[in-house]
Amino acid sequence: MKKIGIVGGGAAGALVAIHLLETFESGDEVLIFEPSLEVGRGVPYGTSEPMHLLNVRCSNMSAFVDRPHHFSEWYARAMEIPVSDAGKQFAPRCEYGRYIGELLMLAAENSAGHLTVIRERAIEIQNLPTLSVKTEGGATIPIDELVLATGHLGPRTPTELEVIEDSPHYLRNPWAPNALSCIESQDSVLILGTGLTMVDLVLSLVSRGHSGLILARSRRGLIPRTHRLGTTLPFDPSSLDRRHLAKSLIDFLRAAGDNWRAAMDGIRPHTQDIWEQLSWEDRRRFVSRLRPFWDAHRHRIPEVTSEILQGLVELGRLDIGIGRLKSVTVESDGFRVETSTELIRTDWILNCTGPDLQVERAKIPILESVIAHGLATYDPLGLGLIVDSDGRTSRAGHVWALGPLCRGSRWETTAVPEIRGQAARIAELLMRAPA
Ligand SMILES: Cc1cc2nc3c(=O)[nH]c(=O)nc-3n(C[C@H](O)[C@H](O)[C@H](O)COP(=O)(O)OP(=O)(O)OC[C@H]3O[C@@H](n4cnc5c(N)ncnc54)[C@H](O)[C@@H]3O)c2cc1C
Repeated sequence: MKKIGIVGGGAAGALVAIHLLETFESGDEVLIFEPSLEVGRGVPYGTSEPMHLLNVRCSNMSAFVDRPHHFSEWYARAMEIPVSDAGKQFAPRCEYGRYIGELLMLAAENSAGHLTVIRERAIEIQNLPTLSVKTEGGATIPIDELVLATGHLGPRTPTELEVIEDSPHYLRNPWAPNALSCIESQDSVLILGTGLTMVDLVLSLVSRGHSGLILARSRRGLIPRTHRLGTTLPFDPSSLDRRHLAKSLIDFLRAAGDNWRAAMDGIRPHTQDIWEQLSWEDRRRFVSRLRPFWDAHRHRIPEVTSEILQGLVELGRLDIGIGRLKSVTVESDGFRVETSTELIRTDWILNCTGPDLQVERAKIPILESVIAHGLATYDPLGLGLIVDSDGRTSRAGHVWALGPLCRGSRWETTAVPEIRGQAARIAELLMRAPA
């Protein structure tokens, strides 16, 4: 009989549980520690805004590596459209959350084993005499194996904004429930960050009937590029010049010309291998210098989303540009913001700089505890935990990690097409391990 604890019930934690439940024998149990009300959603799929779309086509969002059409078929049934049409679409993210939630419930109903959801944050582990998880509420629950799927950190306030941290007109975490509810329709809004979070927040404001001016600024003013249907361009990793990896990748993308999206998709299955070949110093350089360019091209938005943004720009309601934040002062009529390019007056400032990548600096209690027990280590860049190719955090075994938490070790590890493979592998190895 096995008792497996999963800390984090976002998509990654739920996928591990689904795979486990499918193979469980009588008496086996999986416990998911997740403080939010619904399991399987996390931040990305917890949105209720239907304009927030997946940034991956349905055809590549199946929960199962070996059943590639599973989500397209589910979505086709839900929307009453042909599967071939569903596969090409970018479904609302809330629908994807519903899909994962349904799969989990179904897996639990059909399983010989048992699913328990503990609606609490896990804060600590104990390792003697056996492994156990302590929750915020004070419960201590014994388990045999621990899977860490704590996902994304919230955004961190940039240093220049610390002076307004407590202002009610500064939104540090735009993902917080009802974060936008106090913004009046005519209020001016400055969004810091021009990536995917900015895109989501602009859509949310529009859908709430906001009609004031929205400015979005970032150091480089890079916005996510748009998806286009196309055939993936095959990429041969052995063609890379190992001494100049970044340059030879850029050459491959440049050579593809207008077809760079297909080239980017060709690189994707090899990204983890390429990442592993980089020294930690090269990884650090990539994160600090190249990441904004990588993100804008790798994490693309659906055409329909791009058209909405373009429409707002043409109407003069949205202005996206370059501006490195220098200082902010609070005045009687709002904020005065000085950037490297201009002076801005705004009613609201929204922090859309994206999830904080510095996991070690965040000192998450459960991770600190696992590390203090010698069952895991932070990677040298502090982006997350070191894992081996199977997701183990240490040779001692019993602790596993997947998803965004493994960014330092794997980089290409934050999206469902990678996470579902990691989840299946961890579940398979957990089931093979002696009880
Ligand atoms: C806005 C956004 C949109 C995205 N869109 C897509 C997309 O369209 N397609 C795609 O493939 N990928 C997308 N992604 C990538 C996304 O990272 C993955 O798809 C996936 O959702 C990650 O799941 P996760 O469970 O690892 O993390 P999360 O979704 O962050 O979930 C982690 C969960 O862990 C819980 N948790 C954290 N700490 C504890 C603790 N101590 N105790 C208990 N519970 C804890 C949290 O409450 C949370 O529910 C998107 C990401 C974001 C941020």
